[in-house]
Amino acid sequence: MIPYFISSYANPSNINNILAVEISKHIEDARKKIALLVGADSQEIYFNSGSTEAINTVLKGVFYNYTAKGKKIITTAAEHTAVLQTCDYLRTQGAEIITIPIDKNGLIDLECLEAAIDNNTIAVCVMFANNETGILQDIRSISELAHRHGAIVFSDTTQAVGKIPINFREMGIDAACMSAHKFHGPKGVGAVYLSRKQPRVSILPLLHGGGQERGLRAGTYNVPGIIGLAKSLEIAVLQMHENTNHILQIKNYLESEMKAAFSATILGEEGLRTPNTVSVMFPTISNIDLLKKTKTKFALALGSACSARLGKTSHVIKAMGYTEAFAKHTCRISLSKYNTKEEATLFIEMLKTIL
Ligand code: PLP
Repeated sequence: MIPYFISSYANPSNINNILAVEISKHIEDARKKIALLVGADSQEIYFNSGSTEAINTVLKGVFYNYTAKGKKIITTAAEHTAVLQTCDYLRTQGAEIITIPIDKNGLIDLECLEAAIDNNTIAVCVMFANNETGILQDIRSISELAHRHGAIVFSDTTQAVGKIPINFREMGIDAACMSAHKFHGPKGVGAVYLSRKQPRVSILPLLHGGGQERGLRAGTYNVPGIIGLAKSLEIAVLQMHENTNHILQIKNYLESEMKAAFSATILGEEGLRTPNTVSVMFPTISNIDLLKKTKTKFALALGSACSARLGKTSHVIKAMGYTEAFAKHTCRISLSKYNTKEEATLFIEMLKTIL
C-alpha cells in the first residue's frame, strides 16, 4: 500500500495521465484478484468504503429499482445494525419489511421464511456469519427458496470473507459485501458484489458524481485502500487453512475451560460457526463487570462495537430467545491468527481470580 500513498499518487480516473493509467491497471488487477477469491466475475465487484455502504447500496438500490415487482423485503432479527437501520428507513419509504425470527441455535426457520415469501418479495437479506456469535446460516437453502419466488438474495458476508471458504455464485448469493479490516486489511475500504448473471442485480447508485465504478459508486478511488483490500484478502485466503487450525485450537481450549471452570454457556455451540468468534455467557458476572475487570489485559466485547457505543444489550442474543438478564451476562471473544495459546491460558487464569 505504501507506494500508493507516496510515489504512485495519481488519480486513476484521470485517463489522460500515463501514471494514472498504470494505477488504473493495478486497481483492475485488485478487482480480478478479489473476484477470483470469492467466486465472482471481476465486473461484479464494486469498490466502496465497506459493508455499511454496501448494505445501504444494495437494500436501497433494490427497493427503489424493483418496485414494479413488489415492496417486500425479508430479513432476520439477528442482522447487523446496518441492515436493521436501513430496513427501518426503507419502512418509512413504503417498504414492507418482514423480520423472521431465529431460534436458540441462532438459525432462521426455513418454514417461517417459506411462509413469509411470496411473488411480491424483492429481496431476502440474511447474513452468512453473525458478528456476535459466528453462527453460520444455511445460505444455499435460503437461496433456493428465495429464487423460486424470483427474490434477490443479499447476504451480509462481512464476517465470513477471508475467514471461511466462500463462493458467492456457488452459494446462490446475488449480492454480498466485505470490509477489509475484517481480514487484517485497512479500515474504511471494502467492496460490494452484485451478480450480473441469473439473476442480474440491477440497482440505482447511492452516490452520484464522477461516474466511477461504472456509475454505481461515484467518488475518487481510495487507491491504497483498494490495493490493501486485495492483498489482505489474498493473504487471508492463502493462510486460511493454517490460521483456522491455529485459532480453533485456542477456541476449543477456551470454550472447554470456560464451561468446566465457570459453568459458562457457549452460544450456538452445536452448529456451524466461524472459527474466530465466541459468544459466551458467565452466570456469575455481568458482561460490564467482566469487561471492567479484564480490560487492562484483554479486549473483550459486549456484543457488536455499535451496540457497545450505544450502551445497548445485544439484540442478537435477545433475538435468539434469551432473556435481557442472559444478554447482560454474555460477551464476545474474538480471536485472530495473532493470538496464542499462552494468552488463552493467561485469560483463563485471570478469570479464575475474578469468578
Ligand atoms: N455487517 C457485519 C456483519 C459487521 O460485522 C460489520 C462491522 O462490524 C458491518 C456489517 C459493517 O461494516 P463496516 O463498519 O466496515 O461498514
